[in-house]
Formats: sequence, C-alpha cells, structure tokens
Amino acid sequence: MTELEDARENLKDALEKIGEEDFFERLKNPQRFVEVNFPVEMDDGEKKMFKGFRSQHNTSRGPGKGGIRFSEDVNEDEVKALSLWMSLKCAIADIPYGGAKGGVVVDPSDLSESEEERLSRNYIDSIAEIIGENRDVPAPDMNTGGKHMSWMMDEYSEDNRELIPGVITGKPVEAFGSKGRADATGFGAVYVIEQIIEDEGLEAEDLTAAVQGFGNAAAPAVKRLEEIGVDVVAVSDASGATYDSEGLSYSELVDCKSRRGEICNTGEEISNEELLELEVDFLIPAAIGGVINEDNAENISADYVVEIANGPTTREADEILEERDVTVIPDVLANSGGVTVSYYEWVQNRSGEYWDEEKVLEKLKENSQGAYREFRDLRDSEGLYGRDAAYMIGAEKIVKAMKARG
Ligand code: NAD
Repeated sequence: MTELEDARENLKDALEKIGEEDFFERLKNPQRFVEVNFPVEMDDGEKKMFKGFRSQHNTSRGPGKGGIRFSEDVNEDEVKALSLWMSLKCAIADIPYGGAKGGVVVDPSDLSESEEERLSRNYIDSIAEIIGENRDVPAPDMNTGGKHMSWMMDEYSEDNRELIPGVITGKPVEAFGSKGRADATGFGAVYVIEQIIEDEGLEAEDLTAAVQGFGNAAAPAVKRLEEIGVDVVAVSDASGATYDSEGLSYSELVDCKSRRGEICNTGEEISNEELLELEVDFLIPAAIGGVINEDNAENISADYVVEIANGPTTREADEILEERDVTVIPDVLANSGGVTVSYYEWVQNRSGEYWDEEKVLEKLKENSQGAYREFRDLRDSEGLYGRDAAYMIGAEKIVKAMKARG
C-alpha cells in the first residue's frame, strides 16, 4: 500500500470509530491540489524545467499549514498523504490551522546555492496565488530549512510590495523567525517521552533510545534525550549507523558531522536496518517513511516507537506492532512540535511582538504534553492502539469544525 492509501484507510477506520463515516468522502482527497511546472536558470545560463506540487487538504480549522520538501522522490500521492497528516496533526496539537504540504521534484545536491535560491523563489512564485498568511502558510520539510524559507518570504513580500513575514514559517531568527523553532520538532517529541517517563514512574538514567536520522528533526531530539539523561545508544543517517551501548555523545556527533558532512562512526558501525531492531526503550525513526514495515515489524524490540519522521510505519507493520504490544506514539502527535512553534512564529509575525526562547519552549512543552495526555487518556480508557486513538482525536476535531462552519 502507498502512504496515501495507508493514510486514507487509517482515516476511514477512525471516522467509523467516531460514527462520522459520512465524512470520509469529504476528507479522503485534498480540497485543492495544484501541480506547477516552472523554469529555473542554471548557473551556465541554461533554463531547466522543474515540477512542484501544493496540496491543501482541509482548511476548516484554519489556514493550510505544511512544509515544502525538495526531493527526487516527491510525487503527487506523497504530497497528498502528507497534507492529510498535517490536518490531523494541527487538530491533535490543537493549533488553529488546517493541513497542507508542498514539494519540488529535485535533488538539491545537484544545485549550487544560487540555483537553489532561484528554484525556491520560482516555486513560491508559481504557487503564490493560493498561499497567504490567511490561506496557506508553508514551512520547511526534508532538504529545506531557514534559508529557503527566508528566500521564499522575501520573494512573496517583494511581489506584494510589502513585508509579509507571516506567509511562511521556519525562517531564521534574523529574518523574522521564532527563537526555539530549530529545536522544536525534536524537543516536542522528547517532551512527550518525558511525560511517559513521569507517568510510568521510570528513571531517565535507566533508559535507552535509538534514533534513525541526524537531520533537522532528529539531532535536537538526541540533544534533549542526552539533557534528560537517556542514553542514545545508536544514531544514523543515509550513510549508515553508529552504536555504543554506553551512549553516544551529542557534541561529538555534531562536531564530526559538521566536519565530514555525515555522521561519523564514534561507536560500533551497524546498518540502519540493525538500528531499527535494537533492544532499546525508545526507537525513534526520524528520517524517512516506510522504514518499519511487514519485513521487520516482527523484529522491532523497542517498548515504544516514537515517530518523528512522517509515515515511518506502514499499516501492515501497525497490525504486527499492535499484536506484539509495542506502544506507538504516532507521527501526527509525536512530531507536532515543529508546526506548533511555526504557529508561535506566525503569531509573533502578525502581532509584531517577539518572545524569548524560554517562553517558546515552555509553551511548546505545555502544548506537547497536553496533547499527549489527551491522546493517552482516550487510548487507555478505550484500550486502543496508538495510531487509532490519535486519528480519532484529529478526525473528531476536524469534523466538528466542518459541522460548525456548515
Ligand atoms: P533532514 O533532511 O534535515 O534530515 C533527514 C535525515 O534523514 C538526514 O540525517 C539523512 O541523512 C537521513 N536519511 C535520509 N535517507 C535516509 C535513509 N535511507 N536511511 C537513514 N537515514 C536517512 O530532514 P528533517 O527535516 O529532519 O525530516 C526528517 C523527517 O522528519 C521527515 O520524515 C520529515 O517529514 C519529518 N518531520 C520533520 C520536521 C521538521 O521540523 N524538520 C517536522 C515534522 C516532521
């Protein structure tokens, strides 16, 4: 099954469970989906065509919200699935946004910095008519970050002849971004882990975690896990994984990655596949989709799978994990820290009042743990599998907004 088929089936189940199955037809497709094809001038003067997408899944609860992914693998179905997840995620985190997502089919490592800038500007121009601070507010995703967001904000503002920082979030602090945004996704997930530790009466120092990925979302999670005393015994990136049963050092990993461009083997070299099957308390897939699937779900040995990546677990794997009593904290809940601080950024941009990092992270912790407690209470009182509980909460809030708006 594709990510989109998985997302739709999970949504359908949730709508049935809350007695709102009639809404499936209205929610299985995005409200609006556009494909754009636009030229970009390469450094040698040649004009090359690129394909991009923007999917606005549902805007009943607020403007569309969702990242922009630069990847060769970006496709229509992936963007639609990601936008559906964004609708659920914003509802679960209780922030006043709908769901959207975008992407450009490109391998950014093939581009120079100036080509990347022109690509970012031309992509945003090509979707300018359907975005806006009250319509749809993009943000970063895989292979995009602060610099892309500030180029896009600048382009959109120039076209509109006024500064409109709230059109896009995930901007650098020096270009109207929010303090705390860079750490938000990873920290948000670990705040949830902190609540689990408290609920279960565990000691952080006795616990271990394995993290797949060491990018924008994963690295801050490793930092925060280390801060609270959990041993991060394995970390990986696309080049491979490193393992140390005594725990890896965040600063060593960062230093080495900044020198080499990829993580270094500061422990024992293992594969990404082996990392996923390690006996740890918390397995944190934080890189790409579909990595926990029917081929390896039987071998997942962690007690908790905390999903920072979007869609790391397939529907077939969910069935196996549920049967094996592995507790899944689903992506739509666990990785909502980024969009939550994106919302704070948008609020700051529109009010003109900027907050310090302490305030941002304090609000994020309160929000992430509050969303987790709502999820935990439903899951435990009804004996549900994690993904079902999260989808039910998200779907119910979206349906309520649709009904209220008529
Ligand atoms: P990123 O590009 O910064 O990092 C991606 C990481 O994944 C890198 O370390 C890369 O080496 C690694 N990777 C790529 N292919 C891999 C492979 N085949 N095996 C193992 N590792 C591989 O991207 P990101 O922003 O950190 O996003 C990672 C995931 O988290 C994505 O699924 C994204 O949708 C999700 N996410 C990110 C944010 C955010 O704020 N950045 C928010 C919510 C969800």
